[in-house]
Amino acid sequence: MRAMILTKVCRLSEQPNPLEPAELPDPTPGPKDILIRVTVCGVCHTELDEIEGRTPPSRFPMVLGHQVVGRVVARGESVERFREGDRVGVAWIYRACGHCVYCQSGNENLCPQFLATGRDAHGGYAEMMVVPADFAYIVPQQLEDAEAAPLLCAGAIGYRSFRLTGLQETGRLGLMGFGSSGHLVLKFVRAHWPGIEVHVFSRNPAEREFARELGAIWTGEIAESPPVLLDAIIDTTPVWRPVVESLRHLRPGGRLVINAIRKEDADKQALLDLHYPEHLWMEKEIKSVANVSRRDVQEFLELAASAGIRPQVREYPLDQANQALQDLRSGRTPGAKVLRISD
Ligand SMILES: [Zn+2]
Ligand SMILES: [Zn+2]
Repeated sequence: MRAMILTKVCRLSEQPNPLEPAELPDPTPGPKDILIRVTVCGVCHTELDEIEGRTPPSRFPMVLGHQVVGRVVARGESVERFREGDRVGVAWIYRACGHCVYCQSGNENLCPQFLATGRDAHGGYAEMMVVPADFAYIVPQQLEDAEAAPLLCAGAIGYRSFRLTGLQETGRLGLMGFGSSGHLVLKFVRAHWPGIEVHVFSRNPAEREFARELGAIWTGEIAESPPVLLDAIIDTTPVWRPVVESLRHLRPGGRLVINAIRKEDADKQALLDLHYPEHLWMEKEIKSVANVSRRDVQEFLELAASAGIRPQVREYPLDQANQALQDLRSGRTPGAKVLRISD
């Protein structure tokens, strides 16, 4: 099969084309696995973190990609859940042990044996991939393959972040940063929890305007103060200054949820501005979001389909995966990046 592979960690500023085309043997499914012919695979910021070593692959070469949609073409002998031809999605969670305290309580995203798709097992930047059948999802009919791909990561983890805010029917939610995950959160909150007021912080005026069009009640620069203190803020930025600013915007007892797999070190000195009385006193909380559980993925796909959420996507052929990564990194081209691998 054709694949784009990563053979080593590198800096994208020095190596703008980190992935190489390769021919790999077709994978074969184990007894509990399905073999998928990949139609599309979304391109995610986490791939940049993998390439630059902030969350490096556990071995090389590695086929990246964890927002995969395809058709089942073969299955192991003990797989009951799927049939050949079924359309399935695969997300960041590739496998968890199933019996630890985390797996038993539905927090399999915290499992010590958690494996990530496209980091610890080959992912979707390839014509085929194998995944345990228990870690694949039926994609709701309303969604096209390319529309479903970004929902599998940015959407699912956005949904998990929202769940971790603890907000129920009403409240004031802040979104710090307004990339693909933030805009999906705003859409599904508007559709399913209209009693929640959403405030959006972004340094980009076009993103702020977009947020208002989607129903944000207030938008502003990252250091700007909204007219009210917020119950919860979800931070999706890769840096530290927004963390400090977010804490200042929280009400007493408010919670900051950091949705980032790793933070960059470039502005780490911003943390020295953390002023305990202003930023943390009065029982303010900080919580990170780690990975996704299967519940997050499946519930979010259904929520998105019923709310009519259709991400705006930009397609690239598989052999232009490096270009897609560059466009994602520069932030200059709009829309979620998706590799089109077969029809
Ligand atoms: Zn992702
Ligand atoms: Zn476990």
